[in-house]
Amino acid sequence: MDDTQKTAEQLLEEIDNLRRRVAELESAENELASIRGFLDRGSESLRLIFEESLDVTGVVDGEGVFRYLSPSIEKMTGYTVEELIGKSVFNYVHPDDIDELRADFPRGTLTFAQTHKRQFRYRHADGSWHVVESAGINLLDDPAVAGLVVTARDVTKRIMVEKTLKESEERYRALVESQGVGICEIDTEDRFVFANPEAHRILGVANGELPGRSFREFAAEEDREIVREQGRLRRRGITGTYDVAIIRPGGERRILRITGTPRMDNNGKLFASLGVFSEITEVKEAEEALERSRRYYRSLIKNAGEMICILNSDLTFRWGSPASGRITGYDPADIYGKPLLDYIHPDDQAEAREKLRSIEKNPGASFTTESRFRHSDGSYHFHAVLVTNLLEDAAVQGLVVNSWDTTERKIMEEELVARNQELDAFARTVAHDLRTPLSLIEGYAQLLQDGANSVEEKKAYLENIINAVRHMDELTESLLEYAQVGYSKAEVSAVEAADVVKQLLLQQVKILKRNHVEIKVEKGLPTIMVDEIKLRQVFANLLDNAIKYMGDSPEPRIEIGTRQAEGEVIFYVKDNGIGIKEKQQAEIFQPFKRFAGSASRGLGIGLSTVKLGVQGWGGRVWVESTPGQGSTFLFTVPL
Ligand code: ADP
Repeated sequence: MDDTQKTAEQLLEEIDNLRRRVAELESAENELASIRGFLDRGSESLRLIFEESLDVTGVVDGEGVFRYLSPSIEKMTGYTVEELIGKSVFNYVHPDDIDELRADFPRGTLTFAQTHKRQFRYRHADGSWHVVESAGINLLDDPAVAGLVVTARDVTKRIMVEKTLKESEERYRALVESQGVGICEIDTEDRFVFANPEAHRILGVANGELPGRSFREFAAEEDREIVREQGRLRRRGITGTYDVAIIRPGGERRILRITGTPRMDNNGKLFASLGVFSEITEVKEAEEALERSRRYYRSLIKNAGEMICILNSDLTFRWGSPASGRITGYDPADIYGKPLLDYIHPDDQAEAREKLRSIEKNPGASFTTESRFRHSDGSYHFHAVLVTNLLEDAAVQGLVVNSWDTTERKIMEEELVARNQELDAFARTVAHDLRTPLSLIEGYAQLLQDGANSVEEKKAYLENIINAVRHMDELTESLLEYAQVGYSKAEVSAVEAADVVKQLLLQQVKILKRNHVEIKVEKGLPTIMVDEIKLRQVFANLLDNAIKYMGDSPEPRIEIGTRQAEGEVIFYVKDNGIGIKEKQQAEIFQPFKRFAGSASRGLGIGLSTVKLGVQGWGGRVWVESTPGQGSTFLFTVPL
């Protein structure tokens, strides 16, 4: 149908349609302008919303009825878009949260384009309550939207995590606060950032006063370097435990044991330190007292003259005091693990073993004994021993051996016995030998007193008296000589042995000639380091005896010379006289022992004088003899 065929009515209708189209276009243009305006006004709000990047987007009308929902709603809530569109939000909101949310509705509470943020609980399709966080913008008055544009996110999980986090934080805080140890955090300048109540109590300040104050101000002057040093270590990431004295504001001194742990950032730089400390003043004092007593006992043991050892239950050495090393010559550590009995003289082992066995089963039991212990130089030393079973004493767990080297005492005891025997013999000699001439004198004096004697008789009696007196004088002289050799101190000097022998032979020249004794002296007798007087006495006595005990030898001969030896000179005086029986050879050196009978004069102290003299310069003396053939007396002089 062309225009000519159209009725006026149809044309009017068409014009109307066109007018409407224009109006629609105009209104569309208006809408566009209004959105542009909104975008201009609300760009900040939109940015906020999208930056929050919430999960679901929707539009609700002024009554709270869902008009539009993005499909992600189903994933979040379990409801489909279709289920929700046309339903009120309030059907799903938790009763306790409804009032707050309802305040946003109906229109009016939020002005146009105003944004809001809400958090409320809603019922999930599975029936459980979830928490949602929403951000909305009121575009009710915008004809293009006519609703609140809302984005929402389910934050149930986040809230639960936050809650758990908060709870555990509170738990830790309570734990830290209630601890019996000081806990603190300090910054790199040593200032407290945090400190628990115990830390305040220990440092002697009111709770809450520590933050901001420096730990260093509490450290005692002499310990500040320790604190600084620990700070340096922590900067290198090293945890340290150290003791430090602090002075409380009241002036009280306390000792703390601190463990400082560094907290390092990702670049390995210290940003704070965690300190845990407790007060150990009493512990420290007790420790010091213990250390003092330990030192005391250690020094007692170290300086004790006696030897202290600990044996294991199998009688092997476990420990020896320093003195035991000094006394036995062994380094104590060298004999650890070795059996005690290996060091005991074979003749003493049985007794030692039996006594050890007797206390083995009796805790606390002890015994004393005397045993010979082998010194590191191989010689045996006498030891007085006290052994105590402390196997069950937790601190020892062994047998404790205390012992004293009694060798010297033993030697002294033996010397004492010998001296006593000498004294005994001396008394007997004095009683017998000196009384013999005395009774002679008395007898002849009485005969003279009677008066009925001829002149010859008187002369003979007086001669006998004089001889007896001479004999007494001789006896007294040799006694004095013996005493002198025994007790005088040796004056050592270089002595020509040849000179001494020569002078003595000159003194005896008469008697030697009378008895036709042949004398042979080795040429070049050496120079020696001895006491000259004592050497003279030694040679004099030996020469005297050689003459005295020559017997009936048809060709009497005396030889004086030396023998080869290492480190010493051996002198000898040899005769071809009566000789000495073997069993008497050892005894003749004892004082007042004589076997020559009354045929020859003498007190029996000549050879003991020789022995004392030789021993005085550190030498030995002995005899080699065959009865009937002669004797050789030998003595040594160390070089
Ligand atoms: P004394 O000569 O006064 O008896 P000594 O002590 O000098 O005392 O000698 C002890 C003993 O040793 C003598 O009595 C003698 O029996 C023996 N005797 C010492 N020298 C010799 C010797 N050269 N030959 C044999 N016997 C000796």
